[in-house]
Amino acid sequence: MAISSTQRLPVLPLPFPVVLLPTARLTIPISRELAERLQAVLHDSDSNQPRVVATVPVPPPPDPSNVSSYPPPLNGTGPVHGTAARIVHLVPVRTLSASVSPHQPYVLSLHGLTRIRLAQPLDLDSQVADFLSERTVHHPPADQTPSRGAVETFKDAALRLLDRLAKDSVQSQRKDDWLRVSVMVEDVPDHRSAWMADVLVAAINCAYADKLAFLAATTVEDRLRHATELFVKQTSISEVSQKIANAVDESLSRQQKEYFLRQQLAAIQRELQILHTTNNAGSGVPSGSPSLKTGGPGNEVDDDDQADADDLTDLKKKIEALEAGSEERKLGVREWRRLKRIPQGSVESGVIRTYLEWLASLPWPSAALSSSVDQEIIKESGFLAKARAQLDADHFGLDQIKRRLIEYLAVLRLRAVTEAASQASVSQQPMLQLAAASAQSADRNCARKGVKGPILLFVGPPGTGKTSLGQSIAKALGRPFQRISLGGVRDEAEIRGHRRTYVASGPGMIVQALRKAGRIDPVILLDEIDKVGQSNFHGDPAAALLEVLDPEQNHAFNDHYINVPVDLSRVLFICTCNALDSISAPLLDRCEVVELSGYTYDEKINIARRYLLPKQLRANGLSESLLALTDSALLRIVTLYTREAGVRGLERALSSVARFKAVEWVNHLDSIAGTERSDTVPKGWQSVVKEEDIQRILGVPRWDGEEREREEKIGVVYGLVVTGMGEGGLMPVESTAVPGSGHLKLTGSLGDVIKESGEIALSWVKAHAFDLGITAGKGIDPLKVPDPIDIHLHLPAGAQKKDGPSAGVAMTCALVSLLTGVMAPKDMAMTGEITLRGRVTPVGGIRMKVLGAHRAKVQKIILPWANKREVEHEVALEVRQQMQFHFVQTIDEALEAAFGKGVLGWKREVMVMESRL
Ligand code: ADP
Repeated sequence: MAISSTQRLPVLPLPFPVVLLPTARLTIPISRELAERLQAVLHDSDSNQPRVVATVPVPPPPDPSNVSSYPPPLNGTGPVHGTAARIVHLVPVRTLSASVSPHQPYVLSLHGLTRIRLAQPLDLDSQVADFLSERTVHHPPADQTPSRGAVETFKDAALRLLDRLAKDSVQSQRKDDWLRVSVMVEDVPDHRSAWMADVLVAAINCAYADKLAFLAATTVEDRLRHATELFVKQTSISEVSQKIANAVDESLSRQQKEYFLRQQLAAIQRELQILHTTNNAGSGVPSGSPSLKTGGPGNEVDDDDQADADDLTDLKKKIEALEAGSEERKLGVREWRRLKRIPQGSVESGVIRTYLEWLASLPWPSAALSSSVDQEIIKESGFLAKARAQLDADHFGLDQIKRRLIEYLAVLRLRAVTEAASQASVSQQPMLQLAAASAQSADRNCARKGVKGPILLFVGPPGTGKTSLGQSIAKALGRPFQRISLGGVRDEAEIRGHRRTYVASGPGMIVQALRKAGRIDPVILLDEIDKVGQSNFHGDPAAALLEVLDPEQNHAFNDHYINVPVDLSRVLFICTCNALDSISAPLLDRCEVVELSGYTYDEKINIARRYLLPKQLRANGLSESLLALTDSALLRIVTLYTREAGVRGLERALSSVARFKAVEWVNHLDSIAGTERSDTVPKGWQSVVKEEDIQRILGVPRWDGEEREREEKIGVVYGLVVTGMGEGGLMPVESTAVPGSGHLKLTGSLGDVIKESGEIALSWVKAHAFDLGITAGKGIDPLKVPDPIDIHLHLPAGAQKKDGPSAGVAMTCALVSLLTGVMAPKDMAMTGEITLRGRVTPVGGIRMKVLGAHRAKVQKIILPWANKREVEHEVALEVRQQMQFHFVQTIDEALEAAFGKGVLGWKREVMVMESRL
């Protein structure tokens, strides 16, 4: 290679931040245009000469968003220093890699040779035009030998830096590389030391400005000085970052050290405490006296630490108390070990601690449990009588239900007694006493079998005493009571818990209830089981519930958070719901259904007098001598202010009365202050609330006039329904005829089944139109002759969804009324399914419907014949006596009951006589 001291070379500006130093190699992507111009330049040059260009680094562009553009826009005085470089190769990019920008499809490889200086600075403004234009360049004088001193300092700085780099390298290969370079630096002759400086500066990471300054250093002394400065700077940067890293490491290990020391301290304190306690026991000082506490009073920080250490000790004790060999203990011990390993105060330590608290505070079955309290209570001879007394004490009436519950408790008792007997006989067998471990597992299994029966499911409207019956059962059994409200549960995790990986995870409702109960055999009331959400993207809560309730599966219930099988087989589950329709068949299958249909007026008055009023008096600070209600006043509240199956509204109304009287009482006391003592009822105090006072206290009656609003109108009859809340009530069935073409229109948010009932009713009426006197002859369609009409059948309230077959009778009566012009009395209500043959078949919810009709002051009621026994057995006598029942088998009978005998001008008998003739 022969390069004279002045030469003309094509200039290649290098984009910011690229710098090519002599001795270095560089590969950059370039545009097609530049590549073509380079090829043209190369083509022109003498092919025997190496292809050399003058590379000149250009300063950063003013607009940072243009950094990547090539060539960059430039202004001001251009650069003069650069490096003559040999073009190693120029190739299209697809031969190398496909992942390069389409704007730069070529790759250019350069090898830096020597420093150069442009005779004229690069004209930055017209740089594009200058691209690869030939310029005169000066070469600095050939390398001279630098002074000994400069070389020594350079070598020292370089060796220190290389040593640092070798130390910092994680990969051993790199470390070896740096050490090898150190050897080369030591051996390099003085006249080659400037070359060495170029090699090293090109190899290390240094700032753009430093590289430019180094490039501009033309004399060897200058180059060595610059390189030395750079190396010193680089070494100190590296040392500082190493120091910081060390400091961070140290502080971490200090935290750990501190944690272990604290643990040791806590252990020492415990030992000291035990020592003191034994000493004090000997010397008569009460154990656990405050003087034993380290830190003493007033040192709050230490107190906190002490409390923390105490908590941990407690936790450890609880874990140690878990049954040996059990799953929960194994997991507890494993997590405890993890807890000890990680630094206290870290997030994970908090998570593990919370988990361990949960695990350790849950009631787990243990060998000692087989003789737990409830078993004793249930085995006592007077258990059933006591249970009955408890149910009677808490609830008025409900005789049949109480009888069912006593039967249920009797079964539980029998099982408990038989099981205890079999356990006793088993334990006498010497075979089973072989090993402690096997005995333990046998005990567990016995505990698992426990006392269990079918799950009770209370169905009924709100306020009928479902929850309070559950509480009474728990009291009778002497077990803790927990209520879980399932209304609106959409997420399976609410029942089963969230996995521990989930942020803010925790156990599900069942495990929470178990912990609150503190025993493995509480009575858990699952309230509103019909309101549990169906399967969705949050899982299937109903399926999780099924697992909870299924006696085959619930001895190993899997809560995602606790992650150890939880035994629920000894829990007595009681479910409640308002209606059975939305409960899944498998769930219903596992339940024993107990229906609470609602109370009669008489029962409500009794409940109010015996239970609700005394409760409200207590709650409002009054006594019986200060407030009493007459029977007629109570009846007024029950009939005109509340009209519900249960007694919630009644309780609220009574509480309003009590509050009203409480205010009066306080005012009265103030007015007579000082004149009389308040422990006797003062004269002038009106303690009795009479019927006429009620409006003053409770306002205008809510239900007064409902009956008056009922109309006796052509095409309108009253049906009976059971609402989604399980309450019975009246539902008008309205029909009207409009000009049309013989169609039936059904409105009022009706489901498929109820719509079909409407169609069956119309078909039956059409088929019997002549018999009913609607048409003049057989086979005539009453909707087409004499005038074509449409029939519109509507069931208010239009926004409530309605379905079921039980409106058939009411719809038929409404249509007959519409087409014949005969009206049904307004104090009459009816229910029953119909068939096309004209039969009336039985329907459900009879008790609730009858009670609803009674509340609505209905006098006559038409019901399917097949429901007669139900009415006779299940509806209170007082209700039956106040209403007239028509039990019908056919539609004919229903029509006769609705409109009166002979009113319809029924022609059938005539027909029969004719055929006989
Ligand atoms: P539910 O769970 O069916 O909605 P609750 O059990 O909460 O109803 O009952 C509401 C209130 O009515 C409670 O204060 C309860 O004690 C009372 N109650 C309901 N039925 C009776 C009854 N037969 N005798 C006495 N109190 C009753």
